[in-house]
Amino acid sequence: MKERVYISPAKYVQGRDAIKKIGQHLEGIGETAVVIADETVWKIAGDDVVSYLEEKNIHTKNVVFNGEASPAEMDRIADIAKEAQASIVIGVGGGKTLDTAKAVADEVQGYTVIVPTTASTDAPTSALSVVYSDEGVFESYRFYSKNPDLVLLDSKIIAGAPPRFLASGIADALATFVEVRSVVNNSGNTMAGGQTTLAAQAIAEKCEETLFDYALLAYQSNERQVVTPALENVIEANTLLSGLGFESGGLGAAHAIHNGFTALEGDIHHLTHGEKVAFGTLVQLTMEQHPQDEIEQYMALYSSLDLPITLEDIKLKDASREDILKVAEAATAEGETIHQAFSVTADEVADAIIATDQYAKSFKGMLQLDES
Ligand SMILES: [Zn+2]
Repeated sequence: MKERVYISPAKYVQGRDAIKKIGQHLEGIGETAVVIADETVWKIAGDDVVSYLEEKNIHTKNVVFNGEASPAEMDRIADIAKEAQASIVIGVGGGKTLDTAKAVADEVQGYTVIVPTTASTDAPTSALSVVYSDEGVFESYRFYSKNPDLVLLDSKIIAGAPPRFLASGIADALATFVEVRSVVNNSGNTMAGGQTTLAAQAIAEKCEETLFDYALLAYQSNERQVVTPALENVIEANTLLSGLGFESGGLGAAHAIHNGFTALEGDIHHLTHGEKVAFGTLVQLTMEQHPQDEIEQYMALYSSLDLPITLEDIKLKDASREDILKVAEAATAEGETIHQAFSVTADEVADAIIATDQYAKSFKGMLQLDES
């Protein structure tokens, strides 16, 4: 029997200066916390988190994240957490830091606190981590028995981050509705280990609607580093709506194609998760035979947010058919989420990647004609 399954974090808090209350949220939960952030984020938010915790007599063990969500890094920090006898694990920063914090919290069975400093992916709310090799190649998804206990976002910190991160999160969140719809149509399974609920479908729809209404306004707020209602809406869409939507609604082809791209060498590794997902979403739409108008709506929104739409934009201008086939083969590997969306071969995915590139080039040509 196929069951409907819906999972979510216990508490989600978002707002201007929300970080100042982190100690309040954790009062009575534990005496020692491991705080994980990379070198840059320590200065932006990590030190503040520690001082707000100290105010409530929560002591911390501070760890500098080395940059890759790899098994070796997860083990290294878990050992530190065990030695410190920490009952709270706090990840501060971007997707890979947060994914590592979840793994550490799982190892020590700690209270999991996720403090994203960008709205660049929908990873924060989920009960899973994406695991990469030390070289940054996608390895696997690691699933946990529970979602984070607290996800806390300070909108002021997010407004101060480079707009490229917000745009990447928008791209990641724009994949959600497209992927959920395909999983529902195919009666596929979700990342929560069951079938999609009506709740997750409604959330995915709201996510899509919010982004088409507010993404560009939010991006402009972010350019001037100010917090506006549009930015708040998009932070919520990128983080909460997309996070709940993808996990309990399902991942499809866009993320499988993203994972495929990580198998290639070269400059593509300088792209963010969301930038690769943007292209993957267009490829999924191409495989699903949507009319031109619909595909162009996505291309137009991506372009207005300076997101990539062609192979050249994702640093693969000179990719051979062989390279593209390598991506397609990785995207259709056994166990990949693409199989939850539809049945497709590597050869068909490779053709769709090339067709997407050609549509996007032609779309860019039309945009230039409009401007002149
Ligand atoms: Zn994603």
